Amino acid sequence: MSNPVLQVRNLSVAFGHHKDGESAEKPVQVTDRVSFEINAGEFFALVGESGCGKSVTSMSILRLLPQPSARIVEGSVLFEEKDLAKLPLAELQKVRGSEIACIFQEPMQALNPVVTIKKQLLEVFKFCASSTGKSGAVSAGKNGAKSDAVSAGKNCADPLATIREMLLQAGFNDPDRVLDAYPHELSGGMLQRVCIVMALLPKPKLIIADEPTTALDVTVQAQVLAVLKDMAERTGTAVLLITHNMGIVSQYADRVAVMYAGRIVECGPVRDVIDNPLHPYTQGLLAAIPENHSDMRTMKSIPGSVPHARDFVQGCRFADRCSVCAEGCAELRAKCRSCEVPPKVGDSHFACCFALRHAEDTQHHI
Ligand code: SF4
Repeated sequence: MSNPVLQVRNLSVAFGHHKDGESAEKPVQVTDRVSFEINAGEFFALVGESGCGKSVTSMSILRLLPQPSARIVEGSVLFEEKDLAKLPLAELQKVRGSEIACIFQEPMQALNPVVTIKKQLLEVFKFCASSTGKSGAVSAGKNGAKSDAVSAGKNCADPLATIREMLLQAGFNDPDRVLDAYPHELSGGMLQRVCIVMALLPKPKLIIADEPTTALDVTVQAQVLAVLKDMAERTGTAVLLITHNMGIVSQYADRVAVMYAGRIVECGPVRDVIDNPLHPYTQGLLAAIPENHSDMRTMKSIPGSVPHARDFVQGCRFADRCSVCAEGCAELRAKCRSCEVPPKVGDSHFACCFALRHAEDTQHHI
């Protein structure tokens, strides 16, 4: 049964706004009525090539996009009966980090290079106490070291013990060595695991992980994602994972939404989407995954590239790259090249494509 923790409804974001409202150029809309929901404890992936609008969508949930250029021009972001798209900044600040946390691509840039890991993790408790307005008691760590951290308002009597416990869960056998280290003394994979602990410390309901393993060696990517999945499951935290990697999606996600040129073109349970991809773009992404020992000379790719947001059309934005359209009948090609938005076909697993409607009408399969 669905129990949505986050509901994104018809979210459209445009860039190019100016402070005074005056602009020589018209703002460019980069996402177009994006809708999806994430259930409590669910691992939800948003996948697509660079420039599809994944990060813009995820960053607009907490309104982290550059101001005043970026603006939500339509839609809502419902979280705990609040619309984050319209919430006053002071109220939104109480949600950021405490209720919805983020993990970014570059852990080295997410952490302060001149402050120890211990101090940075303890600061999470301080931040949560100040953002929720609850004053906590000064507490001491297990080793007697006095900490100026205060309870995050979520019944944490001993912050340092909690941190140590979570570092152990994140695969650090010697938490004290990590706590005493500065960021430059740890590897990229270790730093990203520290960032996962940092994100989970306030017990958020949702974590937004924007390409959290892209900057890491392939060998540690799986380790970091396994830690994220395991720790999110233990705490019942939902995860919104932004990635361009279908292999990662198939291994870790429960449900997936595929984005292309600012729109969601397919969405459903991961197994359904992987085993039976409906949209030609999803089929292309899956075909492009290299298989073990495959001949790289015959590796498949999708011809062309994602258009710039300035060149987005009203109709199907994938038409220039779509082999189904190119090889289809004249009627289908005309539809694909029209100004109509492709229709949504399906329910819990759906895709937006004229060929699917055409196949339904004519009893064919694409
Ligand atoms: S609507 Fe047409 S062009 Fe677009 S993905 Fe479907 S078949 Fe291809």
